[in-house]
Amino acid sequence: MSFTLAIVGRPNVGKSTLFNRLVGKRLALVDDQPGVTRDLREGDARLGDLRFTVIDTAGLEEATDESLQGRMRRLTERAVEMADACLFVVDARSGVLPADEVFADILRKKSARVILAANKAEGRAGESGLLEAYALGLGEPLRLSAEHGEGMGELAAELRPLI
Ligand code: GDP
Ligand code: MG
Repeated sequence: MSFTLAIVGRPNVGKSTLFNRLVGKRLALVDDQPGVTRDLREGDARLGDLRFTVIDTAGLEEATDESLQGRMRRLTERAVEMADACLFVVDARSGVLPADEVFADILRKKSARVILAANKAEGRAGESGLLEAYALGLGEPLRLSAEHGEGMGELAAELRPLI
């Protein structure tokens, strides 16, 4: 059985961008547009010498009605149950929003093994967001830029002992 990492977090934090970087094929859609039907997506990740299975929790961008919250929760819970560890991604640029707390609660309730990541942290844009992420109480956040490939060595160092 391959080690499975679920990438979780609210829409638009860069989960699919990171998934694509890890899987190396454009299996997951990446865009800013709501309304595209998506679901859980699984791929074979390569990170340096590490090989593992990665799950992208998509389907959360369907901002339609009151079912969003329930759908978000259900998909994330399913991903957490399938995974050995979760990479909880927040957006270092926007900082921690109330929606992030929803995911933090799910991870705490499920006693998931969590690696916290503050994405979009390229340059100096993410300094305050990084501090807010730290305040979530889920450990020290990794500083990532999925788009620019920054922080991948640090992510590998976090994952290596778990795999
Ligand atoms: P998801 O909804 O969490 O899957 O987020 P996406 O991967 O679809 O990304 C949402 C938006 O954030 C897209 O416009 C991405 O190009 C952008 N994005 C993703 N990663 C980064 C990053 O590291 N830095 C910056 N500046 N933008 C990013
Ligand atoms: Mg996505």
